[in-house]
Amino acid sequence: MKTPSLILSLSLAVAGCSTTQEPASSGPATPFGSLGAMTTNIGDGLYTVSAGGARTVFLVGDEGVLVGDPISTPAAEQILGEIRKVTNKPIRYVVYSHSHWDHIRGGQVFKEEGAEIWSQENCLAHIYRNPNPEVAYPDRSYTQKQVLDVGNATVELLYHGPNHSDCSTHMYFPNHKIVHIVDTVQPYAVSGAGGRMNDSYPKLFVDSLQMLEDEVPFERMIPGHGGPIAPRDAVINRRKYQQALLDAVKAEIDKGTPFGKIPDAVSLPKFKDLRGYDQYLAANAQRILIYYTIGW
Ligand SMILES: [Zn+2]
Repeated sequence: MKTPSLILSLSLAVAGCSTTQEPASSGPATPFGSLGAMTTNIGDGLYTVSAGGARTVFLVGDEGVLVGDPISTPAAEQILGEIRKVTNKPIRYVVYSHSHWDHIRGGQVFKEEGAEIWSQENCLAHIYRNPNPEVAYPDRSYTQKQVLDVGNATVELLYHGPNHSDCSTHMYFPNHKIVHIVDTVQPYAVSGAGGRMNDSYPKLFVDSLQMLEDEVPFERMIPGHGGPIAPRDAVINRRKYQQALLDAVKAEIDKGTPFGKIPDAVSLPKFKDLRGYDQYLAANAQRILIYYTIGW
């Protein structure tokens, strides 16, 4: 990485602080009106954009542009506008991070620019079973690893098994040693979305992050919501929180604590400073209890 920008230095300073990394523009609908997209230049052709309540990335190479999630139709239009402030090169690829609608609506905006849409293959079943007029079907899929090149700029699409979903792509930018992880890791936060962890895979979640850590020499990550960048430690911390949660719920089961009382009985003082700990710990524990009850 040749040219770390001032913006990046500021972002890193923010990312180092565990509870205040949410930027003012985490979504367009606010009590103060509609906020536009906010782009951070990471350097060497990599950018991250906050728009429509989520965060995505785009990579500019010699021959074109690769975009991460389109987020929603209005967000995709904003993201395209942000890209066009930087380059007029063609949009070659869109990569869906997983199959959840809050990240992958709006792909048509980029298809009309000529982009080919990629996802991990397990997403196809979800997208076809639950069609959404705003979700464009992927043109191509991969199983374990796919390298996409936009001209002296590459991204590795990596599948490390089920975690937040069963089709999450870790997008690794080798030139930057940065991985884009959507929803599986919210830096220094417990699982959000009401804490229910939606369709996550509680035990495989740990294995997936461990595999990422073991196999990919990333130094920083870009999340799918919130601030632009976080250190590698954010991933390690999230894996440890997940394992601690699994262990704590299992300990209550082994002690004979009545099932209904387990979510409120769980306490993880080592993780009490995580964002959302007070609000969502019990709901996170409830999801783990379901795992120990039915194996999913
Ligand atoms: Zn999701």
